[in-house]
Amino acid sequence: MVMSTLFKRILIVSDMEGSSGCFSYRAASFMTKDWRRACVGMTQDVHHVVKTLFAAGVEEITVKDFHRTGYNIIPEQVHPAARIISGYKLGPVPGMGNPIAAEAIMFLGMHAASGTRGFLAHTLTSRIAYLEVNGKPMSEVELFSASFAPYGIRPIFFSGCPVACGQAKAAINMIHVYPIDKRQGPQNFDADVWRAGLKQAAVASLTNISTKPFTPKGPFKAVVTMRDGKHVARKMANRWDFRHQDARIFLDAPDIHILYEDLIRLCYLTPLKEKMITFWLFMYDLWGRMGLYWVRQGLQPRDL
Ligand SMILES: [Zn+2]
Repeated sequence: MVMSTLFKRILIVSDMEGSSGCFSYRAASFMTKDWRRACVGMTQDVHHVVKTLFAAGVEEITVKDFHRTGYNIIPEQVHPAARIISGYKLGPVPGMGNPIAAEAIMFLGMHAASGTRGFLAHTLTSRIAYLEVNGKPMSEVELFSASFAPYGIRPIFFSGCPVACGQAKAAINMIHVYPIDKRQGPQNFDADVWRAGLKQAAVASLTNISTKPFTPKGPFKAVVTMRDGKHVARKMANRWDFRHQDARIFLDAPDIHILYEDLIRLCYLTPLKEKMITFWLFMYDLWGRMGLYWVRQGLQPRDL
């Protein structure tokens, strides 16, 4: 079947928790045996989607690895015409650096928001027990989509656990979703069958002109409840002069970009790290490259 594709330049944001090889917190954690398998699964998901999109008429695909260090996808195992961006970059789009000339974003391997019932649910870090923004849980798809909105890039497709898909649909009008159900465990999960559905659904979303760049209106009042309790919350809040009470930290932001920046500071940085951000990112990048080297060393012939 030939689809009339409307989008020719696609950005894929790729995470691991909702990808086909990750069935536990261990598998999403750096340098575990299960993580190596999860990297292979995530890489194959991306490769199959990319290959199918090119066959459907897409001309340019950029893939941004957005899990942990940003070094999980094994680039040489993805269709060579796709551009893979590993690691995190400084720039106007957090993590991504400079915006790319894409028309639409597809989210693969995603998860649900902190404090909700999805598979490995979290927003930015599992240290947050619950993130409520203007009275509702907020998921990463909202923050990421909003960060690309100033460049006119529309979120058209999302894949993750059923809870994550429900949240994406509720937040982003008309986004297409394709769920991954992991409740039966890895031994009862047929990755090939699931992937066949994933790539078809991704291609079908190329005609999804109903979604618009995601620009939710502020102001935003966020309540961040820290999993480790009030002492950790106090320490984290004081670093940045955020208000706090018990295990909760309060953020007030006039727009979603400032909210996202504040959340990044709170979750990943200290004022010292922020001052030395270039050096810090360089070290983090090395750490990620080392992990990916380790993944490659342990690959079995059946993984290739
Ligand atoms: Zn992740």
